[in-house]
Amino acid sequence: MARVVPLSLSLEVGGHQYVTQVWALQTGEVADGTERWLLDSTAVRWLLDRVADGDISAERAAELVREVSRWNSDCCYWCDLATPAYPEVLRRHRDAYERWQRQQRSMTPETHPYLLDNGTVHRWDCAVAPPVRGPGHPGTDVHTYAAWHGPLNGDVDRIMAVLWEETRVSRRITEGELEQWLLQRNHHAGSPWCRRCSPEPPGAPEPG
Ligand SMILES: [Zn+2]
Ligand SMILES: [Zn+2]
Repeated sequence: MARVVPLSLSLEVGGHQYVTQVWALQTGEVADGTERWLLDSTAVRWLLDRVADGDISAERAAELVREVSRWNSDCCYWCDLATPAYPEVLRRHRDAYERWQRQQRSMTPETHPYLLDNGTVHRWDCAVAPPVRGPGHPGTDVHTYAAWHGPLNGDVDRIMAVLWEETRVSRRITEGELEQWLLQRNHHAGSPWCRRCSPEPPGAPEPG
């Protein structure tokens, strides 16, 4: 699968400045792992003119071609797209994680007596329930993050919202939230109650 992408190119040689676009042809999986790059012919002609005028050497021209025939991120097209947003995404993830931790600290066995994990209801302190899940991480390097950035068109608000959704996988809930959830769940799905900790249904006398 080939992909043609525009890259901005700015060349400055011997006081001349030249700005154009380089079209990069990414050929996908190539046997020897190389990528082919197609350069704007006007840019190439301009470079050759600089050599002819004696502004630069042929070696320097070749070096410039090499410099522009690579991803700015030194990795891939998707990393080039994702790199500018990555620091902000990491910062917002840190904020989201702290917000989630504050929420956890404010919960008590009285306010949030249940733990809801993937469709199973536990007592908040059930020994076999998995730990509550915090917001998802956007990726510990840019290339991992690019898998979020590309498909969601770099919409950082949406990316953060999707990552926050992971806090719903395993979470502490109130009696009211459990009642709502019980009303909405698929009633053909079998018993939602953990057999190990046997939580009291809402409205029953307080456990313990
Ligand atoms: Zn990459
Ligand atoms: Zn349980």
